[in-house]
Amino acid sequence: MAQAALVQEFSDLSPAVTKFISRTQKLYIDGKWVDAASGKTFDTIDPATEQVICKVAAGEAEDVDRAARAASRAFYDSDWSRMIPAVREALLLKWADLVEAHAAELAELESLDNGKLVMYAQMVDVPAAVNLIRYYAGWTTKIQGSTTNVSIGIPNTEFHAFTLRQPVGVVGQIIPWNFPLVMAALKLAPALACGCTSILKPAEQTPLTAIRLVELAEQAGIPAGVINLVTGFGQTAGAAIVEHPLVKKIAFTGSTPVGKHIGKVAMDSLKRVSLELGGKSPVVIAADADLNEAIPGAANAIFFNHGQVCVAGTRLFVDEKIYDDVVGGMAEIAKSMQLGGGRNPASQMGPLVSKEQHDRVLGYIEKGVSEGGEVVVGGGRHGDKGYFVQPTIFKGCGPQSTLYREEIFGPVLVANKFSTADDLAAQANDTEYGLAASVWTRDLSLAHRLAKRIEAGTVWVNCHHLIDAALPFGGFKQSGMGREQGHEGIELYTEMKSVLMKI
Ligand code: NAP
Ligand code: MG
Repeated sequence: MAQAALVQEFSDLSPAVTKFISRTQKLYIDGKWVDAASGKTFDTIDPATEQVICKVAAGEAEDVDRAARAASRAFYDSDWSRMIPAVREALLLKWADLVEAHAAELAELESLDNGKLVMYAQMVDVPAAVNLIRYYAGWTTKIQGSTTNVSIGIPNTEFHAFTLRQPVGVVGQIIPWNFPLVMAALKLAPALACGCTSILKPAEQTPLTAIRLVELAEQAGIPAGVINLVTGFGQTAGAAIVEHPLVKKIAFTGSTPVGKHIGKVAMDSLKRVSLELGGKSPVVIAADADLNEAIPGAANAIFFNHGQVCVAGTRLFVDEKIYDDVVGGMAEIAKSMQLGGGRNPASQMGPLVSKEQHDRVLGYIEKGVSEGGEVVVGGGRHGDKGYFVQPTIFKGCGPQSTLYREEIFGPVLVANKFSTADDLAAQANDTEYGLAASVWTRDLSLAHRLAKRIEAGTVWVNCHHLIDAALPFGGFKQSGMGREQGHEGIELYTEMKSVLMKI
């Protein structure tokens, strides 16, 4: 009975995705697809219909231990870390080509598992993943040390000193559910480019595209043990990765509380740690901004990916002279947005990723009202099936309110006005986070002043959400530690060694 309903719900899926979800998903350890040692599985859910998509192996400490040993063997005993860089580059490029060739399938799978629109997954997520792999493939042949003139004063003695940049070893990579495919590529590509081997743990809500991505890596010829995929829960699989003695570095993207906890545990064994955490990013609209750009831009800053973006523009600051026009314009956009399933071409926004996230965001909306905020638009659930939340704008949530201070991770904006630009940077910085900001203005001086003064890892001017593999990405303050992307991404996965030779 349940099975018949399930087939019907998914009857419009492509043959490739139908075939993929028809099986129970396994772990990938040492080049083999295997069940969890415990035999346990968990369900992954379609957030638009609340239907089970398929079962997924629930890896735990024993599986992580096998994965860590495999990754360690691949690092120390196989050719991977000593491979001619151009050969490693060619393997990564082949992988990128395969991901690109399966773009439609990956986009559909991402939409099914996460709830985002297929159209966006195809336009944004899959190309971003391909670009990241290609970008880091290019770095494999460009990782360098340098020579240094030393001043060691021993008479009649010469030295030759140089530095080697070497892979850090086995890395543990733990990722969230909002951009599952992009996050997997962002973690794996630089680590592999440097010659590291990995244990990757996707979020329990969205394991499917990471599994498909790793299948494509296998198909590209990336050797056994280089990538190990352990699906499962944070408390079990994730924690075991962070604690494992063979793991030399942890790269984590997720919430600030979990990131702090992971950082503390990793410090016990002085594992290298990079953390990409939460945000409460300001969007500043000056009176001289081009409102034809700024209004849809600010709406996109908060509503893109249903607000489930670490850099979402959640705190809006508008010059009081144009405040009513901007908030009114954004409310019109919010009102007109069609909510629906990710495969429906008429949909403009899909569901939130999970029941937990849905209830959490609705809880924040209730809190906003109870603290005296005014709902300009939205403010509730959409429909009675699926985890849909209306795009919502609040007015009158002051700097002390919960909605102004806490990361909601949903389509909920707090709108504020300002009278002079003098203390704007201070207002923008009035948060424990510092991931991103956008400034909308035609005044170059104001743009530069704010770009300098806002404490954030990324400041956009007259745009938001644009990310490039070559540009470092990460957070000030409690938004994280370290930078991914660009050359900084290579630094995260390498150690520097000084070699001093008496010659
Ligand atoms: P989360 O609960 O922190 O989970 C992130 C990942 O960590 C998941 O794979 C999770 O596993 C795992 N995890 C949870 N507890 C763990 C533990 N004790 N040890 C090891 N791993 C553990 O975050 P989320 O709810 O999935 O994602 C939303 C959050 O991520 C938001 O706060 C957002 O701001 C942040 N985020 C930040 C960035 C960035 O680049 N800065 C990007 C995206 C998202 P399970 O959930 O599977 O149990
Ligand atoms: Mg979680």
